[in-house]
Amino acid sequence: MRPILELFPEELPGEGFRKAQIAHWLYAKGALDFAEMTDLPKALREALDREWRLSEFSLVEAYPSRDGSVKYLFTLLDGQRTEAVYMPYENRKTVCLSSMVGCPAGCAFCATGAMGFGRNLTAAEILSQLLAIAHHQGISPREIRNVVLMGMGEPLLNLGNVLKAVRIMLHKKALAMSPRRITLSTVGIPKGIYRLAEEDLGVRLALSLHAPDDETRKRIIPTAHRYPIAEILEAVRHYYAKTKRRVTLEYTLLKGMNDHPWQARLLAKLLKGLSAHVNLIPFNPWEGAPVEGTPRAGILAFAEELRRLGVPTSIRWSRGQDVGAACGQLALKVPKPLLTPLPEGAGR
Ligand code: SAH
Ligand code: SF4
Repeated sequence: MRPILELFPEELPGEGFRKAQIAHWLYAKGALDFAEMTDLPKALREALDREWRLSEFSLVEAYPSRDGSVKYLFTLLDGQRTEAVYMPYENRKTVCLSSMVGCPAGCAFCATGAMGFGRNLTAAEILSQLLAIAHHQGISPREIRNVVLMGMGEPLLNLGNVLKAVRIMLHKKALAMSPRRITLSTVGIPKGIYRLAEEDLGVRLALSLHAPDDETRKRIIPTAHRYPIAEILEAVRHYYAKTKRRVTLEYTLLKGMNDHPWQARLLAKLLKGLSAHVNLIPFNPWEGAPVEGTPRAGILAFAEELRRLGVPTSIRWSRGQDVGAACGQLALKVPKPLLTPLPEGAGR
């Protein structure tokens, strides 16, 4: 059986308008069973059921957090597991999706990095996360208007599959999303940034910088020695020049490592002329983490210093900490098992 989510709407099975009907069932109605597609001839439904599968998971588990976000744990068909998070705040339904099982970058502060690399996810497995969440939430997949690829994995090291999933999200007959509402977050892979600029899809780029000097950055991101900061920022400048999309810089504040005032000043200097926005991320602790977060007062001081120097800065206070759904906590550890019963047909 082949994954139907790998197909663009125009490639779907069936003649002429049948393709549009199937796309509507998949992406507007969120059907997880061909039997639901009642306006298709029975013979076609049966043929579809024999040849194609609708979900990439054998099991979907949901863990609601006190703050309204829900962490989802997916068991893939080969038994590996990956995760996503649903954030329904302020009428902006957002999902944070994974692009891999684990991650090869091995960042010191990230629980995903600590578990190592499993494998890349396929385009169908990336999309299936969104569809499974919509189904479980009882909403149309099209009601999810924001996607961030900030779950497990490094999207620019799985760019072919990620781009395919993004193209289906953008497709008018699929999820019809706005490119401005899709964000790819990267640890900084210059080649991937150039390719993304070439593709010119209009999606947003977030760069996880975490340090203004290479020495500190290498301590935080072991793979950083391959790409010096100057090379990454040159790629980011190119992305901005080509796409006119302001790039967000993510900076997780770690006590005594990257939170000194001189580092704030160096960062401000580095960002001159880049029109970037800095997102300071308070560290989310996890068991066995080899680093500590900067205390609240230090976070506020770092932000103040950046603002004083004219850098637009915000602090992203985390959500979902209690269920391990906050940034970098996604590593399949489930602190409070609260298995929510799934509706009929989910995770099929
Ligand atoms: N690999 C990509 C996308 C996934 S990580 C990247 O690194 O950008 C998404 C974001 O979560 C990154 O900015 C990362 O720095 C941040 N993050 C990871 N672990 C964290 C933790 N324990 N606390 C706070 N932020 C963390
Ligand atoms: Fe991978 Fe991003 Fe975690 Fe680094 S922060 S290990 S790049 S998922």
